[in-house]
Amino acid sequence: MAWKKCPDSANARLQGVYGPDTKPAFLGTLAHRIFSRHLDDGPISPDDFAQACREEIGSSGLNYKMAGLEMKPSVLNGLIEEVRGLYERFVNLPEEGFEGSEVELEHLTDDKIQLVGKVDAVYREDLGGHRLVDWKTGELGEPEDQLMFYALLWALQEEDVPSYVEAISVRTGERYRTVPSTADLQGVAEEVAELVNEIRTAWSSHQELPKKGGPWCMYCPILPDCREGQSVAALLD
Ligand code: SF4
Repeated sequence: MAWKKCPDSANARLQGVYGPDTKPAFLGTLAHRIFSRHLDDGPISPDDFAQACREEIGSSGLNYKMAGLEMKPSVLNGLIEEVRGLYERFVNLPEEGFEGSEVELEHLTDDKIQLVGKVDAVYREDLGGHRLVDWKTGELGEPEDQLMFYALLWALQEEDVPSYVEAISVRTGERYRTVPSTADLQGVAEEVAELVNEIRTAWSSHQELPKKGGPWCMYCPILPDCREGQSVAALLD
């Protein structure tokens, strides 16, 4: 997804250069930790909720991000209350067939490309097969590419195409669901192969990758060195 927005920015991330932390990203990570805790360990009572959030912050590395975000206790308390609101909606989602949360998917191709992903939750369907679910804590956006990549990884790892893949915005209630076909997964595999070929060619020939400006420039790790991005940032300002 990052590659489709801007190949050069995705290249920076691939090499471990990440953009600045943001409060929405912090909130999203914390909410996902709480959803996973609920599914794995059971419901969190209202009285224990703030403490559960603090435990997740401490055990997931979010405490290091708090320093980068210069987050005061009052801001943290506000974020915890926002996560509480999301959690109250989340508990109304059906849990039948739940098999695992934050499920890591991985596949090593014949030419040593390691494909990795982590899907928020996996459910077994009544009629057999699996449903892969991604929760969004903001708007739903356009989740198809991400879902199809999870479907591809699942099919490669489990040798079974998922029954369907689904994204749900816990905040807005929007939902996107699709049934991946073998042809869809073939298409995603071809796109990923193309991406890998382009990046390998750029690395071996020391060519610059294309830059594509957009709202995402604001979170780009190489914005300070990118003229295109700075023009976009100036327009957005
Ligand atoms: S600042 Fe924008 S255009 Fe420049 S590399 Fe980053 S995402 Fe691409």
